[in-house]
Amino acid sequence: MPIKTIFLDRDGVINKEVNYLSKIDDFEFIEGIFDTCLYFQKLGYQIIIITNQSGIARGYYSEDDYQLISKWMLKQFKENGITILDIFHCPHGPESTCNCRKPQPGMFFQAHDKYDIDMCNSWMIGDKEADVKAANSAGINHTILVRTGHIIDEANSNAGYILDSVQQTKQLITG
Ligand SMILES: [Zn+2]
Repeated sequence: MPIKTIFLDRDGVINKEVNYLSKIDDFEFIEGIFDTCLYFQKLGYQIIIITNQSGIARGYYSEDDYQLISKWMLKQFKENGITILDIFHCPHGPESTCNCRKPQPGMFFQAHDKYDIDMCNSWMIGDKEADVKAANSAGINHTILVRTGHIIDEANSNAGYILDSVQQTKQLITG
């Protein structure tokens, strides 16, 4: 059976936005993220992280630095009872013509190719319009932006919902 999935952006949704986060020491989980992910699991969702990491292309940190943070982050989730099915990241910069850097939908298609995902019953939770655009282009119509990351141009947003925090998504995603 196709799996319904919660796609999460990383910076600004899972952890506090830091410009080009490169060290575990600077990684701070946003309040309520574990509790909310446990809730998603209880509803039968898989959780996949989809993240732009142009700091790699810009030379601010290496692929290895990124992987170290990822491994550590997954361990923290695990210790809180949460299984993250997978993480997809785009290492390219804004001038790249790759199809994975959001707002391009490539990472969602990678996830869809790898797993049998029910895109119609999946959600994207992000903090930038690029998250919404990428999800929509991949056939995910349920989109939420949270105000814990970048400033959102709310008047011009195509997000389905704009909420203060990831915790508030529990009131929206109920089945
Ligand atoms: Zn890319």
